[in-house]
Amino acid sequence: MIDLSGKKALVTGASRGIGAAIARSLDAAGAQVLLNSRNVADIERVAAGLSNDPQLFAADLAPSGAGTALAERVIAEHGGVDILINNAGIAMRRTPEQLTEADVDDVLNVNVRGLLMLSVGLGDAFIERGGGSIVNISSVAGLIGPLGRVAYSASKGAVDAMTRALAADWGRHGIRVNSVAPGIITTDIWAESRANVPGLIEKMEAGVSLRRWGASEDVADVVLFLASDLSSYVTGETIAVDGGMAKVRGGGEPEYRS
Ligand code: NAD
Repeated sequence: MIDLSGKKALVTGASRGIGAAIARSLDAAGAQVLLNSRNVADIERVAAGLSNDPQLFAADLAPSGAGTALAERVIAEHGGVDILINNAGIAMRRTPEQLTEADVDDVLNVNVRGLLMLSVGLGDAFIERGGGSIVNISSVAGLIGPLGRVAYSASKGAVDAMTRALAADWGRHGIRVNSVAPGIITTDIWAESRANVPGLIEKMEAGVSLRRWGASEDVADVVLFLASDLSSYVTGETIAVDGGMAKVRGGGEPEYRS
């Protein structure tokens, strides 16, 4: 049984999908959850289902200075947090021929700069509290070469690289930094493709060893483990939550029978 009573946890992108599931799971384990997303009404809806005095921190993490500003607000109002879940992110599906510099900026601003500056901005507060746990949500797109996602893939590879680098810098302060790389998880990020690309659901599933799309809760369970003391000797790691997609051959080959 994981008990996070007395801990404060900031979850970015907590309005829906994986971030909302993480917020629910940390709250159920006893943590006070600080919810971030762009729209206050959206995080209010998630907060309404939580028990431990959830707090709202609406902020768009894309603009320059936004990560630092959110860190400053969290420190001013709460003195920092024990757990930071960097989940906010945007997907970017473009062929290399379609990709523009503006697209690259869009994806890197949120997925890389916002995440890093928020983490760095909370660094001193983590150190003063004697440590903590940071979990970054990356993607299998940073572990394998996905089709039509070069900028997104770059951003998520950077998340895993920053995870290892921050783990190196902050290990001596008792701050653990890990990342979770989801595979194909049924959330709004896929809504358009699932509705408009014929056969997408089955084709993607065929590349997953467990032969199913994941649920947001599948990711939240592993995040909870990394947020808690059950993982107290784990840092600088990336754990794929992908049903066997990045490292396991999922499909394409007929089953062997002797
Ligand atoms: P989603 O689109 O349902 O949710 C994304 C969340 O991030 C929302 O709350 C959104 O408001 C927030 N967000 C986006 N841009 C923001 C910004 N500029 N400022 C603040 N908040 C912002 O997507 P999801 O599937 O729940 O994705 C969550 C994370 O998981 C993302 O980082 C995504 O890249 C990653 N991921 C998802 C999948 C998947 O299959 N769903 C796979 C791999 C990685």
